[in-house]
Amino acid sequence: MKTIFEKDNGVSGILLSDEDVNIDFLKDSFIRKTPLGLPSVSELEALRHYKELSDKNFCIEKGFYPLGSCTMKYNPKVNEMLASLEQFSALHPLSDEDDSQGALELMYKLQEALKVITGMDAVSLQPAAGAQGELTGMMVIKKYFEVKGEQRKKVIIPDSAHGTNPASAHLCGFNIVPVKSDSKGQVDINDLKSIIDSDVAAIMMTNPNTLGIYEENVLEISKLMHDNGSLLYYDGANFNAIMGYTNPKLMGFDVVHLNLHKTFATPHGGGGPGAGPVCVVKELAEYLPSPIVGFDGKSYFKDFDIKHSIGTVKAFWGNFSVLIKAYAYILMMGKNLKEASENAVLNANYLKEKLKGAYLLPYDEPCMHEFVLSGDKQKEFGVSTLNIAKALMDENTHPPTVYFPLIVHEAIMIEPTESETKEVMDEFVDIILKIAEEAKNNPQKLVSAPHSTPVKRIDETTAARHPDLKFVES
Ligand SMILES: *Cc1c(COP(=O)(O)O)cnc(C)c1O
Repeated sequence: MKTIFEKDNGVSGILLSDEDVNIDFLKDSFIRKTPLGLPSVSELEALRHYKELSDKNFCIEKGFYPLGSCTMKYNPKVNEMLASLEQFSALHPLSDEDDSQGALELMYKLQEALKVITGMDAVSLQPAAGAQGELTGMMVIKKYFEVKGEQRKKVIIPDSAHGTNPASAHLCGFNIVPVKSDSKGQVDINDLKSIIDSDVAAIMMTNPNTLGIYEENVLEISKLMHDNGSLLYYDGANFNAIMGYTNPKLMGFDVVHLNLHKTFATPHGGGGPGAGPVCVVKELAEYLPSPIVGFDGKSYFKDFDIKHSIGTVKAFWGNFSVLIKAYAYILMMGKNLKEASENAVLNANYLKEKLKGAYLLPYDEPCMHEFVLSGDKQKEFGVSTLNIAKALMDENTHPPTVYFPLIVHEAIMIEPTESETKEVMDEFVDIILKIAEEAKNNPQKLVSAPHSTPVKRIDETTAARHPDLKFVES
């Protein structure tokens, strides 16, 4: 396919008025000396170009998207309509409080809803992603100890954790101490006990963890940590398994971040925009980023009066459009959020039971919203997990998350979400069982997959760092 620059034929899609725009006020050094070099094509050619490009993309509207740890659920289109209402989308972020009461009210009520869902006492909506929420949460923890006059340097993180956890804690200046998982895929309590000392600021946990397994000892862990004067951080990126059933407060956590773009319905295939609100217990409220939206019984206002605030982590209110979608989704679902979790867990367990014969299931436990298989059986025939993932692309199915978590060999991490029907999942079962058969009988076909995509196997690192948009397979 040609790039739009190669399609340039000098035809213009729009007519600009002849009148020059007055740019006298611009400094000479800011004025372009050479033409911008934008391609020129007709409106119809531009539309066809981008439609053709979008057809090459995979999305949830095209097929099953079981990408573990990412919660690729269906995001109702009505959320997009609400987020694009002119009263929201055209509102200037520097508008006076008087002129932005509606937007402030929405954020205030979203804060209140997230308090109920997480059990926490205070919320900052600022962070723009899960990883930024983690960083914010860890900065809160750091400040808490600073104000207390303690110099704790260690953060404990399970070996099954998402890579952003150690990255966030490290960015905050903490030293990472890994804790092992036991044979049930849960934090090894004895290993944890041997690690805890007075230098430990916090533990960062995900529950259900990245194996999709609920940490049965979470209350004991919470007690161990609190008795040691340490705090507990909850990675709530994947909140989809527990909404309405339990919450991080009941589990004994102090700080939580949520990924509104996973659990609360913002499409997130292409890397953003997202929102990673941070929720904390009341003892940590005075460290949150400012401002927070307040309400004095009559009007909504920006509350900058946060005693030990770590400062601002994102301009204005973070990604406001994502907040609108999350609020719309929560209002629309109401108490049915609980049913969404119930179905997400049911769907994951259904798939796990169907697939655990043909594929190795290293931790054969009831799962929550996702589960992790291993491709080790197929590896014996020379077919790797990467080959299986690529073969799925030929079947109009997005590959699951692969090679994560790191503690599972040849990991295949599957998360169907609540939004898929039994029929869709049965179709997926047929496809991935067929691939398991092919691994035995025709491994060559899988090793050379995918066969149907515009490009086949690329060096993914180089492709990300030096994208060659015209790359054609030789
Ligand atoms: C996705 C995810 C994150 C990071 O979220 P981003 O919005 O991508 O920064 C952190 N932890 C877990 C468990 C995740 O699944």
